[in-house]
Amino acid sequence: MNATILTVGTELLFGQIVNTNAAYLSSRLQLLGIDVLYHVTVGDNPHRLAAVLKRLLSETDLIVTTGGLGPTQDDLTKEIIAEVIGVGLEPDESVLSSIEGFFRKSGHEMTANNRKQALIPAGATVFRNEVGTAPGFAAERDGKTVIALPGPPREMKHLFEKEVSPYLQRRTNNVIRHRILRFYGIGESALESKLIPLIDGQTDPTVATYAKEGECSLRIASKRKTEEEALAAIDAMESRIKALVGEFLYSDEDKDLPIVAAEKLMARNLTLASAESCTGGLFADRLISVPGISKSFDRGYITYANGAKTQMLGVPEDVLASFGAVSEETAVAMAEGARKRAGTDVAISVTGVAGPDGGSDGKPVGLAWICVCDARGSRTKRIVTRDRGRNRNRYIFVLEMMNQLNRFLDREMM
Ligand code: ATP
Ligand code: MG
Repeated sequence: MNATILTVGTELLFGQIVNTNAAYLSSRLQLLGIDVLYHVTVGDNPHRLAAVLKRLLSETDLIVTTGGLGPTQDDLTKEIIAEVIGVGLEPDESVLSSIEGFFRKSGHEMTANNRKQALIPAGATVFRNEVGTAPGFAAERDGKTVIALPGPPREMKHLFEKEVSPYLQRRTNNVIRHRILRFYGIGESALESKLIPLIDGQTDPTVATYAKEGECSLRIASKRKTEEEALAAIDAMESRIKALVGEFLYSDEDKDLPIVAAEKLMARNLTLASAESCTGGLFADRLISVPGISKSFDRGYITYANGAKTQMLGVPEDVLASFGAVSEETAVAMAEGARKRAGTDVAISVTGVAGPDGGSDGKPVGLAWICVCDARGSRTKRIVTRDRGRNRNRYIFVLEMMNQLNRFLDREMM
């Protein structure tokens, strides 16, 4: 099945709003295995809308419109669709009562205009809108389908996920499943080049990589006749990917690094303390954003000054004097100090140069030392980020801390 996305709205043509609806719908239709051939945008003009709709009906199987379904004078998408496919508009009783309910709940007064929103092209499938008033619908003619959705992105997405996606899946007679794998420690282009034999010439499952700040992910998608077949195809592809780049994989459930680390700690009933210098509590913040982590996270020390490292963590003054605050020795002393003082099973520390100043030959901006320890020993890691500013450096340091914690816990599990 192929499709056109037809976005309606003069504001789009004027550049007053960005066409996020088209981008969203394209990615969703692609996941359903529907090829999007065109993005077309037309203003709130009845003649041009009718003309473009007629033309598109002769060119693609499916047209998805957004915008112009509201109650006002310039909202005329519905009227034009009915006219072009040659049917009248009829009130839909259940839509009318849900619009009445919406107004009762919100306390706004309902006008005759709002009643107009319950009109639907005769014979169309109605998509009830629970987060707004304008319903969507799917109308058909000669084997072609026009799906109309409201313009506000929140309403449009809600209707698409809840109603349109299942509707289209029934129509396409296929089941599409996808899985997102997350990687840390390998760049997108390195990942892609290692997987070229799997990516090139793939029709099903398809494999695509995406870059995120400091990490990257990969989507495996399969379109088959049954869910079992699709999942089996994805499992097989995942195994082949793991054989090539498994060492960098940290989640096959699209989970963030802090969530994966937090879940490992909680699953094993381990307690954790953190000692942060340059990240200033960002590590603790990201870990604490995971629900339930109070079971494992005990406390975080923010020891920014040398004096604070000595006072709060017992880092020996001569360690600071001989090796400097940003050193492996200081990172180890911070982690061990935090573990002893907090009495936790595990502790993690970081000390680094976030920039823009403070870099030197041996210790450039973007350098950090990280240490994770427990009663049996410690693991240290030196990283140097590509310096793109103080706060990005801090963000990357925290990702690396999560990665080190994960790897430390994996090793412990063996
Ligand atoms: P309403 O009932 O709110 O009038 P509607 O279906 O008539 O909904 P429009 O009037 O065309 O939709 O657009 C309403 C708002 O939705 C726009 O002002 C804009 O903020 C947003 N919007 C519309 N189309 C798009 C689009 N293609 N991409 C992003 N946002 C959009
Ligand atoms: Mg409108």
